[in-house]
Amino acid sequence: MVYSARSMALLLAVFIALVTVLFLSLVESVTFDALLVAGLISFSVSYLLVYVVLEFMVFREINKIHKMLAKVRKKELTQVAGQKPGALNPLRSINEEITAFALLKQKEIDELKKLEQFRKEFIANVSHELKTPIFAAQGFIHTLLDGAMNDKQVRDKFLKKAARSMDGLDMLVQDLLTLSQMETGDIKMKLDYFDLVPVCSDVLDQLEGKARKKDIRMRLADPHQKLSVYADAHRISQVVTNLVSNAINYTPEGGEVSISFDIGKKNITTLVSDTGEGIPPEHLPRIFERFYRVDKSRSREKGGTGLGLAIVKHILEGHNTRADVESTVGKGSVFSFKLPRSKGD
Ligand code: ADP
Repeated sequence: MVYSARSMALLLAVFIALVTVLFLSLVESVTFDALLVAGLISFSVSYLLVYVVLEFMVFREINKIHKMLAKVRKKELTQVAGQKPGALNPLRSINEEITAFALLKQKEIDELKKLEQFRKEFIANVSHELKTPIFAAQGFIHTLLDGAMNDKQVRDKFLKKAARSMDGLDMLVQDLLTLSQMETGDIKMKLDYFDLVPVCSDVLDQLEGKARKKDIRMRLADPHQKLSVYADAHRISQVVTNLVSNAINYTPEGGEVSISFDIGKKNITTLVSDTGEGIPPEHLPRIFERFYRVDKSRSREKGGTGLGLAIVKHILEGHNTRADVESTVGKGSVFSFKLPRSKGD
């Protein structure tokens, strides 16, 4: 039950006045009028005193609340001190409750602001990425319409370039769709037991042509072993594809890309290594972010969407694991990830 300062003061004043009258009535010579006056005086004085003291206490606690809220706003306060056991002051507990609530709301506001900023950056990035192939294809088509169509050689060349831009656009939209479906939870991991080796071998087969164009040798360590893991085979194949494709993209002609395995008691680590250009250490913490590229023009020139590693990160998070990377500039990179071994394997 919550009493107002006025009713508390009234109750206490009545009590003090009664006690005063009771004591005075013990004096023999005291008259009724004197008792009445003494009672009234003690009632008024104690009412005023108690009222002022209580109002002062409330005022002080409200001031404290204001100060706490100002600190929360300025982010100088990150947690509430918490009541000492046995503390009975109701104003203090209300103060703490208000502060805790304000802290929670402030955190939510900060989180929403961060998300809003992230959303704005993402939309700006997507628009820019979409614009690039569309503008390129638009340029080729307009040049054709402006007369280049009549020259068969030029026509074929420009049509091929426009088609390549459209293929890039298609890849970008596919990657964006995959990412958004993973975020909304539309893509669920279908976990089951499967052998990692043929999955990796298939990926190497599919990317063989791309590697051959750059005279890059591809190798699968110990292709005859059986390495059974518990994961989503299709999604893990996508992870290996993205890692091997990057390894080929960022390795100069004549280099080597290999897949190997590190077999532990409970987990199997898959390692995708290359003898490529490597990644400077200051970029390593950011390469899994969407559209983050060490060298923007180089990535686009190689047909990269800037989303490959973001997809890898999402898929591995869906398996409660993550990708690790070790890289030395000028020597190469090793991307790796762990998956749980099948029981009884
Ligand atoms: P992209 O489509 O640009 O390759 P990713 O998300 O796959 O996008 O990779 C992000 C960036 O990380 C790349 O632009 C590149 O700078 C860097 N990167 C990824 N893999 C490698 C690698 N094996 N060697 C060197 N750099 C790499």
